[in-house]
Amino acid sequence: MKDKYIITIDGPAGAGKTTIARTVARRLGFKYVDTGAMYRAVTLGVIEASVEFDSVPEIEELAGKMDIRIDFEDGKMLIFLNGREVSDDIRGSQVTENTSLVAAIPGVRYKLARLQRSSAGKLGRTVFEGRDMGSIVFPGADLKVYLDAGISERARRRWQELKDKGIDVDFGSLEEKIKRRDMLDESRGLAPLRVPKNAVIIDSTNLSIEDVVQQIVSLAYRDKP
Ligand code: C5P
Repeated sequence: MKDKYIITIDGPAGAGKTTIARTVARRLGFKYVDTGAMYRAVTLGVIEASVEFDSVPEIEELAGKMDIRIDFEDGKMLIFLNGREVSDDIRGSQVTENTSLVAAIPGVRYKLARLQRSSAGKLGRTVFEGRDMGSIVFPGADLKVYLDAGISERARRRWQELKDKGIDVDFGSLEEKIKRRDMLDESRGLAPLRVPKNAVIIDSTNLSIEDVVQQIVSLAYRDKP
């Protein structure tokens, strides 16, 4: 396989992108970049600075000054905001519920798209996971995947994931929050969630993680010299 090989995995919340992207990367010996974590880190910075989510110029200015970095430990991606590791802090419900608002802001998207492209230059063979990886950030990626699943199944997976962490949430309201996030991500003017041109669409509703991983890994192996 080539020295530089980019796999993009886009799709709505709860489709299994993170688990699948991480497993595919491990199996192929690639790096793995979770770009949602970058949008979450900016959102955490906005919350900590007590800036209102509708103060667009203020958020753009603040985001412009934020130092967002990624690093890797045992194949796991870590994210840093102004030198502090925030990999766990960005998973809280306040960040989760407001990231789509911050991610719709042009200055935030330009900054993070630049960071994502420069990471690709440094990392070489990488799986990038997000919402606009194959459509906007890496339109020339070697392999593009759009990972989808029915809304009830996506909500069920998220509910189970939280339950496994000892967090009990109401299923109906979780499903509504995921629908709202999808709606915001699909309807924004800049880099909305879309099936990228030439992407392979995988509907994981009735597939196991292993089924999906194997499909993606064998698609990548097609390109092996
Ligand atoms: O993937 P995750 O659920 O962590 O992403 C959080 C949010 O970040 C998404 O709902 C979306 O609003 C935003 N995002 C984005 N573009 C990306 C990755 C994430 O707009 N490439």
